[in-house]
Amino acid sequence: MSSVSQLPAHIAESTSPSFNRQVNPKYTKRIPIHIRSIAQPTFDLRKSLAYTQGLYASIDVHFDIQSNQGMALKKNDLIKLSTINGACTYNQSNAEHTLLYKLAGLTKKDGLVVFIVKGIQKPNGGILNGCAGFLPGSPSVIVSSTASIFTIAHEIGHVLLGAYAPSHTKSKRNIMFGGGTNNIPANSFPSFDQNQKNAIHLSPYLKPF
Ligand SMILES: [Zn+2]
Repeated sequence: MSSVSQLPAHIAESTSPSFNRQVNPKYTKRIPIHIRSIAQPTFDLRKSLAYTQGLYASIDVHFDIQSNQGMALKKNDLIKLSTINGACTYNQSNAEHTLLYKLAGLTKKDGLVVFIVKGIQKPNGGILNGCAGFLPGSPSVIVSSTASIFTIAHEIGHVLLGAYAPSHTKSKRNIMFGGGTNNIPANSFPSFDQNQKNAIHLSPYLKPF
């Protein structure tokens, strides 16, 4: 037994800045996360975040939730932003999404922002669970209040996978399933495959652990 492991737990914690590394020594990268809600999710947010943390831990990435709060908006902005309108395309400049990011008061240095909005409506009237279209350098995803517990992890997967192809899989056992995250069985644990893991580890949005 080493002398370190004989220390009482609270001393080991307070004297070791790398305590988390001891909890999961496999972490090599982390993604700082800020959650901003302007609508109450109908899915179980705690379960969703617990799953997402477990998923990213399984590929050695610490899903590092730094803040999780409601966003107070002026009435006009709330009306405009409760339902995000627009096609979800990558590297887009969606005016509403850009405004959300600005109102959150965060910068790209802070990490990735998860916005939970009432709904996301496409120009053709169709609705989306989530959208990972964002301005390069302002990493964020938008998730609908009516999404599934897997949507946050899926959309962040898009951000971190970047140009990796194929962006979607046919298997429901993979979080990048292309048939809709609401079609993934609720009690399953969809994962990433080795190629996706390798691609994610190259993401410029990950920081050293
Ligand atoms: Zn997708």
